[in-house]
Amino acid sequence: MAGILFIISAPSGSGKSTLVSELRKQVSGVDFSVSWTTRAPRGSEENGREYNFTTREEFKRMIDAGLFLEHAEVFGNHLYGTARSSLDQARRDGHDLVLDIDVQGGSQVRAKMPEAVSIFVLPPSPKELRTRLRNRMRAEGMVDDAELYRRLGEATKEIENYKQYGYILINDFLDRAVAQLEAIVLAERYYRNGEAIAYRQRRVLEVAAACLQVNSQERLKPVLEAFGIDGESGQQQLPFGDEPDDD
Ligand code: ADP
Ligand code: 5GP
Repeated sequence: MAGILFIISAPSGSGKSTLVSELRKQVSGVDFSVSWTTRAPRGSEENGREYNFTTREEFKRMIDAGLFLEHAEVFGNHLYGTARSSLDQARRDGHDLVLDIDVQGGSQVRAKMPEAVSIFVLPPSPKELRTRLRNRMRAEGMVDDAELYRRLGEATKEIENYKQYGYILINDFLDRAVAQLEAIVLAERYYRNGEAIAYRQRRVLEVAAACLQVNSQERLKPVLEAFGIDGESGQQQLPFGDEPDDD
C-alpha cells in the first residue's frame, strides 16, 4: 500500500484507543480501521465509529466470504476482525492505516504483510492497569468485577508477546506516550517515504529510535517484572496480581 500499515496491540485498558485518537488529532493522513465484532456496544460506543457491531452468524458469513484480513476470538467468547476493505480504502486514499488488534490478529497480519510496523503498548504497572480498567467500567456504568479480573488475567498473557513487536510504548504519562507514538509515525514516514520532518520536530528520529524494542530493555524491565514476566524469556514467572489492591 502507498501508506504505512501500523499494528497496535496492548492489554485491554492500557490506553490504546486514547493514544490512537490523540494521534489522529495531531497527525493527518492516518486512518483508523473500524473492526467488526460480535460483542455488544459499551457505554457511548456507536455502531460504525468504535466498531461495526454484528451477530455471530453474520460474522461467520463474512469469514466464509473471505472478507477479513484477520480475525480472532478474543477473551474466549467474542469474535473480532479487520475487514480487507479498510486496507483497500486506505490504499486508495494513500493514507496510513492503524489497526488496533489483539496479539493473535497482529501475528496474522505480520505473516501476510511483513512490512507492517508493529507497536506494543504497555501500562506502567498491573496496579495502574487495574485502576484504568475500573475507572473506564465505572464511566461506562458497567462495574463487573468478574470481567475486570478476567481482563487483568488476559493482560499478562498478551504482554508475553511483546517481543513480536518492533516498537514498545509504555503509556505512563499520556502526553509523553502520544508524543512517542507521533514520533514513530513521522520517523517511519521519513525512512520509508522520504517524507521531510519539520525543523522543530527534528528530535522525532531520536524519540522513535528510543522506542524500538531493541532499545527498550532498560525501560521495560521494571514493567515486565511488575507483571511477573521474565525480561529475558518473556515468560510468566510469578502468579499475576500480587500487589495490594488499595483502590
Ligand atoms: P484500551 O483502548 O487500551 O482498552 P482506553 O484508551 O479505553 O484503553 O483507556 C482505558 C482508560 O484509561 C480510559 O479511561 C482512559 O481515559 C485512561 N487512560 C488512558 N491513557 C491514560 C494515561 N496515560 N494515564 C491515565 N489514564 C489513562
Ligand atoms: P475491546 O472489546 O476492549 O474493545 O477490545 C478487546 C480486544 O480486542 C483488544 O485487545 C483489541 O485490540 C482487540 N481487537 C479489536 N478489534 C480487533 C480486530 O479487528 N481483530 C483482532 N484480532 N482483535 C481486535
